Amino acid sequence: MIELEGLTKYYGDTLAVDHLTFTVRPGMVTGFLGPNGAGKSTTMRMMLDLDHPTEGTVRIDGKHYRQLNDPLTYIGALLDAKAVHGGRSAVNHLLCLAQSNGIPRERVGEVLDTVGLTSVADKRSKGFSLGMSQRLGIAAALLGDPKILLFDEPVNGLDPEGIHWIRNLMKNLAAQGRTVFVSSHLMSEMALTAEHLVVIGQGRLMADMSMAEFIQQN
Ligand code: ADP
Ligand code: ADP
Repeated sequence: MIELEGLTKYYGDTLAVDHLTFTVRPGMVTGFLGPNGAGKSTTMRMMLDLDHPTEGTVRIDGKHYRQLNDPLTYIGALLDAKAVHGGRSAVNHLLCLAQSNGIPRERVGEVLDTVGLTSVADKRSKGFSLGMSQRLGIAAALLGDPKILLFDEPVNGLDPEGIHWIRNLMKNLAAQGRTVFVSSHLMSEMALTAEHLVVIGQGRLMADMSMAEFIQQN
């Protein structure tokens, strides 16, 4: 579970996130809808302690991020596929990540299998297509077997097959009881993916309701 209370972020004079209060619950996919610049990425970065709130709090299963032992076992994220690439092979990338986070190396084979990259595990991720880079980013997010998963605009730029695969993966993770929080600027995408919807505009909360309710009202 992720709980936001009065979460606020200013960048200089720009109010990026404006007193957001909402809860993301386990066992379902919660969509995070808003136009570009609405504050979705900033909110997700604050959930991961990659950016610091000007005001307000984020709690992960009741704790501040920095109070979590082994944070990767609580929360994993796919933020930006471009951040993943490097000169290393996919398997080495994941082995390093596992080692530096005290995760058993057996997990690497498991997550490569989950994302369908086993056959290219020894290839340099630099040469990966966007779809494959996304899969590698997801493998990294899954490495600690986290209860909470964040996906920031995961289907952007993917082909229909890749989009379908990510949608199914997110639904399966939710069906396993995990908390899945995914952003998009497209209502059509959210309608196909999410059971619950949080809508923001200019950093402010506009709606927080079930998808069925939202569709009925709009
Ligand atoms: P979204 O993910 O919904 O597209 P963002 O969270 O990226 O929105 O951006 C929200 C607002 O904060 C925008 O006005 C954006 O320009 C601004 N912003 C985001 N990151 C930074 C930053 N590092 N420095 C300054 N302004 C930023
Ligand atoms: P994109 O979204 O850029 O099209 P894809 O994920 O569809 O990326 O993959 C692009 C290419 O990489 C395709 O030819 C696909 O067959 C290949 N590919 C993707 N995943 C794997 C994999 N696990 N093993 C081998 N080839 C793969």
